[in-house]
Amino acid sequence: MSKNLTSRTQDYSKWYNELVVKADLAENSGVRGCMVIKPYGYAIWEKMQQELDRLFKETGHSNAYFPLFVPKSMFEAEETNAEGFAKECAIVTHYRLKNDPDQKGKLIVDPNAKLEEELIVRPTSEAIIWSTYKNWIQSYRDLPLLINQWANVVRWEMRTRLFLRTAEFLWQEGHTAHATREEAIEESEKMMHVYADFAERFMAIPVIKGLKSPSERFAGAEETYCIEALMQDGKALQAGTSHFLGQNFAKAFDVKFAGQDGKLDYVWGTSWGVSTRLMGALVMTHSDDNGLVLPPNLAPIQVVIVPIYKSDEEYAAVSAKANEISDQLKRFGIRVKFDNRTTHKPGFKFNEYELKGVPLRIAIGPKDLENGTVELARRDTLTKEVAAVDGIATLVVDLLEQIQQTLFQKAESFRNEHITAVDSYSEFKELLETKGGFFAAHWDGTAETEERIKDETKATIRCIPLDRTLEAGTCMYSGKPSIGRVLFAKAY
Ligand code: AMP
Repeated sequence: MSKNLTSRTQDYSKWYNELVVKADLAENSGVRGCMVIKPYGYAIWEKMQQELDRLFKETGHSNAYFPLFVPKSMFEAEETNAEGFAKECAIVTHYRLKNDPDQKGKLIVDPNAKLEEELIVRPTSEAIIWSTYKNWIQSYRDLPLLINQWANVVRWEMRTRLFLRTAEFLWQEGHTAHATREEAIEESEKMMHVYADFAERFMAIPVIKGLKSPSERFAGAEETYCIEALMQDGKALQAGTSHFLGQNFAKAFDVKFAGQDGKLDYVWGTSWGVSTRLMGALVMTHSDDNGLVLPPNLAPIQVVIVPIYKSDEEYAAVSAKANEISDQLKRFGIRVKFDNRTTHKPGFKFNEYELKGVPLRIAIGPKDLENGTVELARRDTLTKEVAAVDGIATLVVDLLEQIQQTLFQKAESFRNEHITAVDSYSEFKELLETKGGFFAAHWDGTAETEERIKDETKATIRCIPLDRTLEAGTCMYSGKPSIGRVLFAKAY
């Protein structure tokens, strides 16, 4: 198997697109802006789903499912949200086709099958869900209501890229309702922490937790919390968002509850989501010019065993040992694959698993059988060692853990080296082009300044970090007073 990947330094964007396709993660489909997620890519997404789902359930949430379509009048009810998504909606207007009288074998939209009310294909589900919550919530006893849904949504994106930005994408969306403002804020913060924890422990991606500036906020939210990651090309990526919705949707859909004192009040809401964009983040954070590099905690195959042999006898002997090792590893809960195909040469297999980012490769040949050893190769460092078959399982468990750690540390050092404090706009503009990454700079807090900086440099405020220290300063753009630094970056 020939890899022939464009290198990252040559053309990062091309490298990414080629890698996603060559590593069998996904491909473009016959539908504009929509992708096909292939089995290997879907297996990684399923691992992500499993872990996230577990974390959601551990924090008290239950899964449910709501319709794909939202009647237009329902969609419009929360005005800010509707306006925010209006420009990227797919709309169903008809429900039937008929034969074209002028062209045999062609179909046309049946003008007699026009819907009385248009249906919006959900770009997000607040409207349909809050219209349902109205019936589910009567009193404080019904609260908190903690629901998550795994679904697809459609946003008519103009510029799409596999995983990072597609017109249809898969995601989960949590939608919760609470009796108090404090409790809803606590929930939105909690879910941001859950996302950060998942990103760091499973994806091995360090993230910055923060608040979005008002102009980057989710339409209809009072506050948007986010986790921001940094890709190897110095561009930031919004990896997850958690919104405090205030009483906006409760008011729009008339969702009230009777408190313990019998008084009626609107409930407080949150919503939070991560999408298949995380797949893009995973690829862009760790992978190299040889292919994918997957963190063991999410790798569908953690260890691959490749037999080395010349004759049928050797194949039989090596396979027997390989099966033994494979069984041992499975007993330790390791996801292992013995690639016993006789149709492909070891070199081909080495290449393939390198391209697919399998964290550890075990090669075993006749010499190893004599010596009681195997050859172990790490995908992250591309290093090899000879290891004894005795105790191989504990060694592999250790190595997988080490790889997980190493990937995180490497990404963290890179990220930390790419957070630069700047005080002047000229320095900011220069370093934005030459170095990239996050820039901690003073900002006067106005949308005008933010907009001008965006127009002039393409950099946006990624977040106002939650752990920032408040320090008086002057805005790098306007020279007006600022109370602390925010993070700017160019972003995906
Ligand atoms: P939002 O509902 O806008 O807060 O987005 C929820 C999550 O979906 C965030 O993590 C976004 O980064 C992600 N997301 C938004 N638009 C897209 C898209 N077109 N393709 C993939 N992921 C997206």
